[in-house]
Amino acid sequence: MPDLIQNLSAVRERIARAAQAAGRDPHSIALLAVSKTFPSEDIRAAHIAGQRAFGENYVQEALAKLDALADLRASIEWHFIGPLQSNKTRVVAERFDWVHSVDRLKIAQRLAEQRPDGLPPLNVCVQVNVSGEASKSGVTPGEAAGVAHAVAALPKLRLRGLMAIPEPTGGIEEQRAPHRALRELFERLRADGLALDTLSMGMSADLEAAVLEGATIVRIGTAIFGARDYSN
Ligand SMILES: *Cc1c(COP(=O)(O)O)cnc(C)c1O
Repeated sequence: MPDLIQNLSAVRERIARAAQAAGRDPHSIALLAVSKTFPSEDIRAAHIAGQRAFGENYVQEALAKLDALADLRASIEWHFIGPLQSNKTRVVAERFDWVHSVDRLKIAQRLAEQRPDGLPPLNVCVQVNVSGEASKSGVTPGEAAGVAHAVAALPKLRLRGLMAIPEPTGGIEEQRAPHRALRELFERLRADGLALDTLSMGMSADLEAAVLEGATIVRIGTAIFGARDYSN
């Protein structure tokens, strides 16, 4: 836990330095702490250290943590960032504030139908496969405009922007290319009239490249919580 507090401030420092290098206001970049595989106690510790937005990938695991942290609900923003199957959309629509991983219209339609009336609109991003591997989820760059316009027209959702998980690569210049591609797509959609304000990109290994290319939310797991152990 002491590590966690230090790690959090080191990540905030990385964001601030990258923002400065990019000539951007560091407050224009939100830190999403990706807590998958880590226990609710770690989330509670990060919350005490001032962290408010947490990202989870697996529905069952996330629900257990949302329950354990129900006392903090009013001051935590929960972001769903993992692959979402149709049969799991209901609880996500009911309990999360954001979904970053909308990768087909059908998922967005279900989230819109299932978002409870009393809640504010669910914030969503369309996930785009900017690296082009067959195995990765996300719409193709060519499909993005059509899906984004259709999602933006749905009730009870607020389309905020785009998300990507680029393939890991070595140097910062190589890392910038897919982030730049996502930003250019984002700018085209805005020029097309969509009111988008969110570019969800950048993880522990490529945070700086993402900030240089305009990320407004960076999703950081390992650099905050440590290496993940999937054996449980
Ligand atoms: C796990 C995960 C992250 C965090 O990755 P780190 O490399 O641990 O920072 C970010 N985004 C998504 C979608 C993830 O699944």
